[in-house]
Amino acid sequence: MTAPEILQPQASELGALVRALHAEGRPWLPAGQASRLGWGAAVSPACTVVRSSALNRILEHNPGDFTIRVEAGTPPEAVQQALAEHGQWLAVDRPWGSGALGGGSIGGLVARGLTGGYRQRYLGIRDQLIGIGLMRADGVSAKAGGQVVKNVAGYDLMRLFCGSWGSLGLITEVTLRSMPLPPQRSGLLVQGPLSKLAPLGEWLLGSSLTPERIDWWSPALAAAAGLAPQPLLLLGLASVDALNLAEQQTAIAAQTALACEVLTPERLGELLAVAGGGEAPAPAWLLRLGVDPARVPLLLAAPEWQGVPLEIGAGSGLGVAWAGGPGDSFHAAQGTLNPDQVANLRRRCLALGGHLTVLSQPEGSRLTAWEDAPSRPLIERIKDQFDRLGQLAPGRLPGVARAAGHPPRPHA
Ligand SMILES: Cc1cc2nc3c(=O)[nH]c(=O)nc-3n(C[C@H](O)[C@H](O)[C@H](O)COP(=O)(O)OP(=O)(O)OC[C@H]3O[C@@H](n4cnc5c(N)ncnc54)[C@H](O)[C@@H]3O)c2cc1C
Repeated sequence: MTAPEILQPQASELGALVRALHAEGRPWLPAGQASRLGWGAAVSPACTVVRSSALNRILEHNPGDFTIRVEAGTPPEAVQQALAEHGQWLAVDRPWGSGALGGGSIGGLVARGLTGGYRQRYLGIRDQLIGIGLMRADGVSAKAGGQVVKNVAGYDLMRLFCGSWGSLGLITEVTLRSMPLPPQRSGLLVQGPLSKLAPLGEWLLGSSLTPERIDWWSPALAAAAGLAPQPLLLLGLASVDALNLAEQQTAIAAQTALACEVLTPERLGELLAVAGGGEAPAPAWLLRLGVDPARVPLLLAAPEWQGVPLEIGAGSGLGVAWAGGPGDSFHAAQGTLNPDQVANLRRRCLALGGHLTVLSQPEGSRLTAWEDAPSRPLIERIKDQFDRLGQLAPGRLPGVARAAGHPPRPHA
């Protein structure tokens, strides 16, 4: 199969390029660093990939206002570095797979709309976003959100573009909310049978404590980190002073008969790196999933997950799982899956009030990346408003199912 053509225009060339693509009605895919393009529905080889990686400037940082405006192709690490110089940070996890694939771009992060455990305290990337600049399929630039002119009345553009997977337009810049870096941080690891962990997880969610993260790990993920193969809760705690941090640890330990291991920020970082895929190449199977948060322990108890590394946020019910398959012996040592098992897992997530997205699957598996969302007709109508010729990201409209390997239908 021929690979898609990849273009990397300078900022000054972008408008003319997009207008030319529009005039010809050519299909194209907005991209960032192109680090994770293949995840999800297949990219049509007929599609031109337009990378935003040359748009990589930090445009404005207002430490006093806790805002930063950056071009979309900027790596998240560069944003974190600029903020750290002022004792601030962008409260999102390193993207999954950063060890092997790099952190991608900030625009890609917004376009995928996926976040990790820090969501527990800081909410998702969509909640960090206060302004957005974009280029529509017809080459017209638009801006929306805080500190910029809102010129598309009626739509909350920013939130539409979070998780749009390049299907609505190319994000050219984003304005994000920054946070002060917490002066004191530690981790807490509690491991044991689900029957004892579940009440602790429930208590934590209802307590007045505000951990930065409360992550559930499956036994297979614990084993991959060199821990006992039992489920665990991994907490990130933060405070302005060490005394308060110690009080939080004591309050949590008082709620459970299980041992609570206090972790240094470095040890917590090591464990988060394992949950983020480590340095290993991308796995044969990579799944994003969500369930009703109250039913996460039920999900973890399901037999289908027993041999699979799975991390899931206690408060959000959103997580990631991975496994080996044909051609991936590295991850096969941690657990394997086949298409029937993944279809069962998807049914299980649906039954628990959630969903399962197949980001990566072995060649020939042909599972849909996602199922039709109940709001599919609405999603398609919005898409038509933004992209009347159906040029953008053909076959990859989130919430609209299409079998892997099938040629995408022209959208409009
Ligand atoms: C904890 C965490 C976990 C994550 N897990 C995953 C994961 O499992 N899989 C995953 O794919 N992402 C995940 N993400 C999001 C991840 O940050 C992005 O996928 C990554 O930043 C992609 O960057 P990239 O520049 O290489 O994007 P690319 O690989 O170039 O593109 C990725 C997607 O975003 C779209 N896109 C990229 N840039 C733009 C733009 N400027 N305008 C419009 N659309 C654009 C593309 O069309 C494509 O659909 C996660 C993020 C966090 C914080």
